[in-house]
Amino acid sequence: MIARSNVLNSPLMPPVKLIYSDNYDLNLGSHVFPSTKYKRVHDKLIQEKLAAPGDFLEPQPADDRDVLLVHTEEYMRKLKTGTLSEFELARLEIPYSPEMVNAAWLSAGGSILAAGQALAHGIAVNIGGGFHHAFPAHGEGFCAIHDVAIAVSKLLAEETIHHAMTVDLDVHHGNGTAYIFARNSSVFTFSMHQENNYPLDKPPSDVDVSLPDGCEDEQYLHLLRENLWHALSSFQPDLIFFIAGADPYKEDQLGGLNLTLAGLQERDRIVFSMAKEKGAPVAVTLAGGYARDVEDTISIHVGTVRAAMQVAGVT
Ligand SMILES: [Zn+2]
Repeated sequence: MIARSNVLNSPLMPPVKLIYSDNYDLNLGSHVFPSTKYKRVHDKLIQEKLAAPGDFLEPQPADDRDVLLVHTEEYMRKLKTGTLSEFELARLEIPYSPEMVNAAWLSAGGSILAAGQALAHGIAVNIGGGFHHAFPAHGEGFCAIHDVAIAVSKLLAEETIHHAMTVDLDVHHGNGTAYIFARNSSVFTFSMHQENNYPLDKPPSDVDVSLPDGCEDEQYLHLLRENLWHALSSFQPDLIFFIAGADPYKEDQLGGLNLTLAGLQERDRIVFSMAKEKGAPVAVTLAGGYARDVEDTISIHVGTVRAAMQVAGVT
């Protein structure tokens, strides 16, 4: 039995809202994408007393009408009926299963919930999502539907917000995000990624910070501070979506940067601190993470939640 943290019990402290479902697991087995990571992050947050079991909000699957704000009807039908072509399945790079599709819809619902919670409370973390390689009519790179784009599009359509910024610090370029919002002046897309890595074709974001192979903490953090500050000074978002990939880590199997665990913690603190200084709420998604030791990936994601709590003043 784990005691509920007194700090988190305090009504005076602004809580960082956490969103999670056991059904986020994409049911991928021994795939390089460790799809059990969501549950392991959830469990470690409790184990480290950063959260109590009752602190997690359970998302509902995204409504199809919201999914259609981003994706085509034909693609949605193929996903729901298991009729993707061989080529489409190969491009998705994860095996098809009804659980995978359910998890994708649930992750999008989680990001919608995170956005609403962030607007109400300052920071919310979806312990899932960040499927930034999904395009309107196809999925790729482990990403079936684009949870962040769906959430942003819904809030814009409802006029809950008028301007959003995506801050994508996954090691891989946010190609789906850049493509989806290319002609939308209400959304500012910021991607900081390894240049010589997937995806080969990188549609331009509003700001692309292309990093050299082997980029280390000092250079990375310097570039992040400069470019993010500049972006936040030129565009005042009503909401930031932070795509907090764990794969810039030096031990990542699909990444070629050289960031340490401490460097990634500092990365997260910079994002939350700058957002706070600019008065912008932040919704977080986890995105990628393929460390040789999956425990490192879990620690990086837990570290993102810890950094959020530190900056929000909860811990
Ligand atoms: Zn990635």
